[in-house]
Amino acid sequence: MAKRLLVGVLAALLALSACSSPPPPSSEPPGQPNPAPGAVKPPAPNAPYPFGTVQQKAPEIKDGKVGVVRRIHTDKPYVFITMDDGAVRDPAAQSLIQQSGGHPVLFLNNRYVKGHEAYFKAILESTGSVLGDHTVNHPNLKGKPLAFQQKEICDNADAYQQSLGVRPTLFRPPFGIYDENTLKAAALCGMRVAVLWSAAVNDGHVQFQSGDRLRPGDIVLMHFRKTFKEDYEAFIAQAKKDGLTPVPLADFLG
Ligand SMILES: [Zn+2]
Repeated sequence: MAKRLLVGVLAALLALSACSSPPPPSSEPPGQPNPAPGAVKPPAPNAPYPFGTVQQKAPEIKDGKVGVVRRIHTDKPYVFITMDDGAVRDPAAQSLIQQSGGHPVLFLNNRYVKGHEAYFKAILESTGSVLGDHTVNHPNLKGKPLAFQQKEICDNADAYQQSLGVRPTLFRPPFGIYDENTLKAAALCGMRVAVLWSAAVNDGHVQFQSGDRLRPGDIVLMHFRKTFKEDYEAFIAQAKKDGLTPVPLADFLG
């Protein structure tokens, strides 16, 4: 009888300590309201760095060519989401990004933005997202003359400056395919860096370049598609499962 009572008391104590111990910071996306007493105070939405802020630099522009970044070298449990093209405009995207605090970079093509500026402007202005250049028409740039590539990249940046009031400095080549002229054209158009990716989300599934989990510094690719909600939620869930917090990629490519 006494033993059973003791077990009961121990179980109650354990449950209590589980409640009052702070959750690991990465298990909470930034900006979650009402933390449990004693929990680590979540950062403000504008300060999404539970493990300290980071200001990392993009690789230097060398010989007139921007550097290429596939993932970020960091020992902190941070991960990055990027959303490409803009072909399908899910009305829920703005609130999904706002609620989760994912801080994406939007690599958009002006062929999809044109005529839908208000949709993308609302996301950029309300979610802390950053706009990236992804060319006007999404061609395969590899092997194309420098002038062609420059026009695709520069015209896209010029269009955003006019229609969205932002000139991007992060560039992603369509399909992730590029050559030396692409890197030159990007630099000539005022880009700081070419950004590829190290994981992707398709049809609600996160696909890893290696292994079975997201790693610190991974740059994840998804698209404005019909499956936006499934894809974004899959990313957020995977990041949480792997103990990673999504933070703004631009802060690592200053
Ligand atoms: Zn694309």
